[in-house]
Amino acid sequence: MAISLDIAHKHSDPLIKIAAVDDEAVAKSADEKPTLIGLDRTDLGKALEAVGVAPKQVRMRVNQLWHWLYVRGISDFDKMTNVSKELRNRLKFAYTIARPEIVSEQVSVDGTRKWLFRFPSRGAGKPVEVETVYIPEEDRGTLCISSQVGCTLTCTFCHTGTQKLVRNLTAEEILSQLLIAKDRLNDFPDADAPEGALENNSNRRRITNIVMMGMGEPLYNFESVKKALLIASDGDGLSLSKRRITLSTSGVVPMIERTGDEIGCMLAISLHAVNDELRDEIVPINRKYKLEQLLDACRNYPGLSNAKRITFEYVMLKGVNDSLDDAKKLVKLLQGIPAKINLLPFNPWPGSPYECSEWEQIEAFADVVNRAGYASPIRTPRGRDIFAACGQLKSASERLRKTEREALEKAQAAGEA
Ligand code: SF4
Repeated sequence: MAISLDIAHKHSDPLIKIAAVDDEAVAKSADEKPTLIGLDRTDLGKALEAVGVAPKQVRMRVNQLWHWLYVRGISDFDKMTNVSKELRNRLKFAYTIARPEIVSEQVSVDGTRKWLFRFPSRGAGKPVEVETVYIPEEDRGTLCISSQVGCTLTCTFCHTGTQKLVRNLTAEEILSQLLIAKDRLNDFPDADAPEGALENNSNRRRITNIVMMGMGEPLYNFESVKKALLIASDGDGLSLSKRRITLSTSGVVPMIERTGDEIGCMLAISLHAVNDELRDEIVPINRKYKLEQLLDACRNYPGLSNAKRITFEYVMLKGVNDSLDDAKKLVKLLQGIPAKINLLPFNPWPGSPYECSEWEQIEAFADVVNRAGYASPIRTPRGRDIFAACGQLKSASERLRKTEREALEKAQAAGEA
């Protein structure tokens, strides 16, 4: 159906100098249009002004859109029933709010779900693919979100580390992982669930927690991660408590304080070794930021208290870092830091150089840590059968050529300006 838009005479913005559009054209160019997902309120306001919303109406319209996008979870402008048809058409013409493509959805025997999402190139480079994992538990549902395609770091126990960095994800792409997982889990109240979504006949929220622990180092993509997490925790939208959002870093020391000050979420450290020699090898960022610096940054993490403890992740590698002596050193190292220690049985992946510690050894290790007064749950591996467990994520996206990456970064910068 053709829709006439006659707004070119009212505005000089190049975005809207087009007289007519039809649904097919709108659909075809969705990948090329700027998105409204992932914009903070100020930028959303600017985007609305650019399609002719009067300045005095901008605040009200931003609130309306925010509600549709993040409370109702809609991905189609036509469903914004309290927005005039004329404005919906202008928005539809200039922008997109479409979800990324779901390449695959796998469900583990234990209920863990893993998705492979494909994001369009948005004007430069190639489309990229990332993995996102949902882990349901008795009392919570956790979504593990990726921040980069591939990773520049090469932690030796991690499958993602074998995939070269393709690029950073944008705020839209980080947030979209949450939105589309909520679609698939039927987790938007009052929304029409898309075909094939999980049945939901309880009022319980399915996604109660998010962890930035998927592919990539989130603190190497700080601005986009921050934008996405501030939207996820906005009380008038997705409304996830910052106590239920955890950012996990391998130890990018200079960005730890800003994480606490500017995002205010919970912090997790991918620790995995108790001395610099071993950590240099298995978490190579340690060569740049040594354990002492890392733990100092942890001690000074803004808001740190017994009620807001730092989680230290410790993967159990047979004969490498799992001795009782290591356990005692771990306790000593963390002295004075309100902490919780997650012991992670190693999840093998094709070609991985390690074996998982014996179960008795993990329990003996946990005992030492427990006796010192630290909670140290042994994390049951989830989703191993679909390669969704910790450290197993990887996509087939390839590194962009330098020119492609530069073009993409330029386009992203223009979009964020
Ligand atoms: S553990 Fe995290 S930082 Fe290390 S290689 Fe894997 S994704 Fe990258």
